[in-house]
Amino acid sequence: MHEDDATSISPELQRNVFLASVDSLYNLIRRTSTWPLMFGLACCAIEMICTAASRFDMGRFGMEIMRPSPRQADLMIVSGTVTKKMVPQIVRIFNQMAEPRYVISMGACATGGGPFKEGYNVVSGIDKFLPVDVYVPGCPPTPEALMHGFLKLHEKISRQSITQAPWYRKSADDAIPVPILGPDLLDPRRLAEVRERTLAPQGETAEPAAPVIAEVSPVARPAGGPLTPEEIERRKQEALARRAEIQRRRQTGGEDPSAAG
Ligand code: SF4
Repeated sequence: MHEDDATSISPELQRNVFLASVDSLYNLIRRTSTWPLMFGLACCAIEMICTAASRFDMGRFGMEIMRPSPRQADLMIVSGTVTKKMVPQIVRIFNQMAEPRYVISMGACATGGGPFKEGYNVVSGIDKFLPVDVYVPGCPPTPEALMHGFLKLHEKISRQSITQAPWYRKSADDAIPVPILGPDLLDPRRLAEVRERTLAPQGETAEPAAPVIAEVSPVARPAGGPLTPEEIERRKQEALARRAEIQRRRQTGGEDPSAAG
C-alpha cells in the first residue's frame, strides 16, 4: 500500500481491519481446533495421554478436547500396536469420522509393526489400511515428538485449499471397505477370488494363499481404479519371493548363501 493511501484510512480502521485470504482463515480455524479421537492401542497411548496432561498440554493447539465419538473427531492418532483383530474396528471408526479427517501414525508399531513386525497377529503398518498424514517415529515417541507431529499436521492443513478440498466434491466416496477377520485379514474386494480358490478342486490350487494384507492399502492403490488380476498376481509373487528371501537369510545366519564359497 502506498504511504498516501495508508494515511487516507482513518486510524481506527488501520488498527482493526485485517485482510486475509479465505484459505488462510479457513485453515487457521481448522488447524486450531483439530480434535483428536479418544482411543489408544498400547504403550504409545500412555505417551499420548501424557501429551494431553498439564506438563505438555495439547490445549495450546486447541486440541485438548479429545472426543469419544468419531462423529465429532477430526484426528485419529493410531497410538500402539495394531493387531489384526483390531483392524476392522479401526477402519470402521475411521469411516465414521466426518471429513476433513486426518491420521497420525504414532510409534514404530503403528508405522511398521515395531518390535512385533511379521508377528502372526500384528499388522505391519496402519498405512496399509488408512491414509496416514504424519508418521511420528519412536518406541515410544516422546510427548515432544508427538507435538512435533501435530505441528507437521498443522503445516499440512495450512497448505490445503478450500477450492480443491476433496471432501466438498459430490463424487467423493472414500469409505474404506472394512477388512474381514478370519484365519487372516481378508480384503472384501477380493472375496470373489477367495471363493474361487476355496471352491476349486484340491490339486488345482497348488499355490499358497496370497498374503492379502499388502494389497488392501488404499494409499498404495493406483489412481486408475481397482487392481487387475495380473497386478494382484505380480504383487503376490513379489511378496512370496521377499518372504522366502527373509527365511533363507535367517536360516543362514544373515549371510547370503549364494555369496559363500
Ligand atoms: S512402538 Fe514401542 S512403545 Fe509404542 S506400542 Fe509399540 S512397543 Fe509399545
